[in-house]
Amino acid sequence: MMDRRQFTGALAGVFAGAVLPRGPFVARQLPDAAGINAARLNAHLKELSAFGANPQGGVSRVAYSDFDRAGRAYVMDLMRAAHLDVQIDFAGNIFGRRGGTDSTLKPIVFGSHIDSVPEGGNYDGDVGSLAAIEVAQSLAEQSVRTRHPLEVVVWQNEEGGLYGSRAVSGQLTAAELSNKAWSGKTIEEGIAFLGGNPSRLAEARRQRGDIATYLELHIEQGGNLERERLNIGVVEGIVGIKQWEVTVTGIQNHAGTTPMDQRHDALLSAAKFIEMLNRVVRGEPGRQVGTVGRVQAFPGAPNVIPGRAVCSLELRDLDASKIDRLYDTIGAEARKIGDADGTTFEYRSLHENVPAPSDPAIRDLIETSAKSLGLTTRHMPSGAGHDAQAMAQLGPMGMIFIPSIGGISHSPKEYSTPEDCARGAAVLMGALLLADKR
Ligand SMILES: [Zn+2]
Repeated sequence: MMDRRQFTGALAGVFAGAVLPRGPFVARQLPDAAGINAARLNAHLKELSAFGANPQGGVSRVAYSDFDRAGRAYVMDLMRAAHLDVQIDFAGNIFGRRGGTDSTLKPIVFGSHIDSVPEGGNYDGDVGSLAAIEVAQSLAEQSVRTRHPLEVVVWQNEEGGLYGSRAVSGQLTAAELSNKAWSGKTIEEGIAFLGGNPSRLAEARRQRGDIATYLELHIEQGGNLERERLNIGVVEGIVGIKQWEVTVTGIQNHAGTTPMDQRHDALLSAAKFIEMLNRVVRGEPGRQVGTVGRVQAFPGAPNVIPGRAVCSLELRDLDASKIDRLYDTIGAEARKIGDADGTTFEYRSLHENVPAPSDPAIRDLIETSAKSLGLTTRHMPSGAGHDAQAMAQLGPMGMIFIPSIGGISHSPKEYSTPEDCARGAAVLMGALLLADKR
């Protein structure tokens, strides 16, 4: 890997004359650092937001809708204008390719998604997709040839569950093809609607080692960067998620005739469980999170002591062993609650997502790229899922975050400043050029 001086030297032609305002709130003009055309990038963001625009100011461009297909046609036009060779793979993902000078090298893949949640915003996925195209356009305009082939990717149906990227990483199962998407189409119908071929899905798959590097720029979707007035988040990885259904069993009885000291109230034990979980998760340093998001009491009548309570349990962290350890502690503490209350706790696994750490060397490249532009950074986990977690199965992965104003996302109120979008694109370009030297 290069040190900062080598980096600056190597990119002198590209970064020449670049002056970037420091700090997120001082920019008087858009940063055109690293050859990024900030005004063009932000104009493209505005144009893309017209596809599926909703009255609240965001977009409802759910996967496999007419708006999704029209938005994809728009980005494919941008890709062609950026001199990329555009193809839709069998899984319905869009790839825009550009050759490198060394045909023996695997491609550097970079991009994001443009589908949204219902009543979503104009930045989630869009910033990373359009910034990737902007990088390709800038490289073409400045006649920069990379050693590695480049592939700009726009994944299909990220919001529904990373369908496009998981098809490529080999994690998508045949059974999932009949799942219904928000558009009303099944995944199988949706892939065909976008120009893919569900019967040849296996051919979209790539193997570990098939990509040299994967890079994705994304909005933070949390408020940490804005709160700390920092420009760039260097993502340490995407947290693992484990979810369980917890059933608490007590004794159902009359709420009027059963004295308070003779009850085995399942809901009361569940309430203690929620308080205990919060205490255990907060009881050690780190950024682990734990949540009970759903509770039901049975039979659910005002005059009956609940004999059964069912709640969810979710734990997230970058470290799978920490999740397992917290789960064990919670189980032991719950047994104590059960012993005191005369109730029992049972657990059923609902869902598991393994953590996807980013590559430490790629983190360094992102850090170097940001620092060379005079930007401030912090390293942080991603609590939300991204296509990058599927790509981490195939090769070294890195993600770049920019601030989300107010930490708001999956909402029409989602906002990142034009300056921050341009900064993110500039960091992406620098990181890509550094990755090309590896
Ligand atoms: Zn996203």
